Amino acid sequence: MMLYNNIENLTQDNKKVFEVIFRFGPLTKKNIIKYTNMKLTTLNRSMDTLIEHRLIVEEGEQESTGGRKPTLFNVTSREYFLLGIDISRTYSKVIITNLRKEILYEEEFEMEQNMTPDTTVEKINEIFQNSLAKLGFSKDKIIGGGLGTIGPLDSKKGIIFKPNNFYAKGWNNVSIKDMLEDKLKLQIIVNNGANTAVYAEYLSSTVIEYNNIAHVNCGIGIRMGVMANGNIIPTINNSNDAFGHMVINYDGEPCYCGKFGCVECYASILAIEKRYKSYIKLGRNSVITKNTKDITYIDIINVAEDGEILANEVLEFSARLLAIGLKNYITLVDTQKIVLSGPIINTSNIFYNYLLKSIKEDIQDYNIVLVKGGKYKDNAIALGAAQMFVKEKLLK
Ligand SMILES: [Zn+2]
Repeated sequence: MMLYNNIENLTQDNKKVFEVIFRFGPLTKKNIIKYTNMKLTTLNRSMDTLIEHRLIVEEGEQESTGGRKPTLFNVTSREYFLLGIDISRTYSKVIITNLRKEILYEEEFEMEQNMTPDTTVEKINEIFQNSLAKLGFSKDKIIGGGLGTIGPLDSKKGIIFKPNNFYAKGWNNVSIKDMLEDKLKLQIIVNNGANTAVYAEYLSSTVIEYNNIAHVNCGIGIRMGVMANGNIIPTINNSNDAFGHMVINYDGEPCYCGKFGCVECYASILAIEKRYKSYIKLGRNSVITKNTKDITYIDIINVAEDGEILANEVLEFSARLLAIGLKNYITLVDTQKIVLSGPIINTSNIFYNYLLKSIKEDIQDYNIVLVKGGKYKDNAIALGAAQMFVKEKLLK
């Protein structure tokens, strides 16, 4: 806690310098001035404080064509560490990372029917203690943690309200922040997983032009996080499935939200499974030998890769409908980059390729970058949550 208190009392100038190096480091002083517009004397004072607190370190010299090589500065990779947690509906994950967004430890577990909030927190603590032992860290090296999870939620109080489709019981009105802080004895910040994922992507981008980014996660639900000009754009009720409930077919399938024809009715794991099974009931051929009711999206993705016509049809249909939603979004909002991720996109190349093709058909005129998985892939939610602790607790 000593170290943490040091950091907490930084001046606004110190924070400004730290934030720039945190996002874009390693940087020379000349470049830091470019980002902060500070005078060299003010910068030097801040740098001294940050170096004294061991928040930033010298990191070699910039390649130079002649003359004295300028020194590069970066955030420390060794003094302070963060815990990142991702609680999702199919899996949960725990990571340990440093301030350079390097992941030192990661462990994942499945969210089966027995994973109630209590058991999940218990398991997270077990992994956390284990990670400290394996890394040879004492607990005071970890300055705090972040959780990215499922909404709707109150991110300040850290309460998960009424998420849909957790396999286990008990995920209603869960004070997850309090539960984790009690068990782990660590300060934890909480936010939507879609928001933490887009924040990770924002930090990963060394190109300053990518200030407007969207991060889409296709899994049990369709979740989207958006950042514009460095800020996370909140959605109504802080739920990150707002995009998933955009109506794309006005007389379409009924959705549990009460509307008809939402994106989620076509492009979620459950929608893909439901559609495939309904075709089997209508007499279509499937090469999957399981009982129809036991077929999962993984089975469907696997047989699609092997060339099964029905599975390809179902995935193509889902991808096409998701593309309609995304194209609506792209038309409305000035976005420079969209990261497409989540269990369906990460496991199915066929789905991803159909999706890309469908989106690109109509948006050739837009200058927009579409990427699969983003820099941090499956770690984006947990990593972004951990780094968000820095943003919320140290840089505010
Ligand atoms: Zn809906």
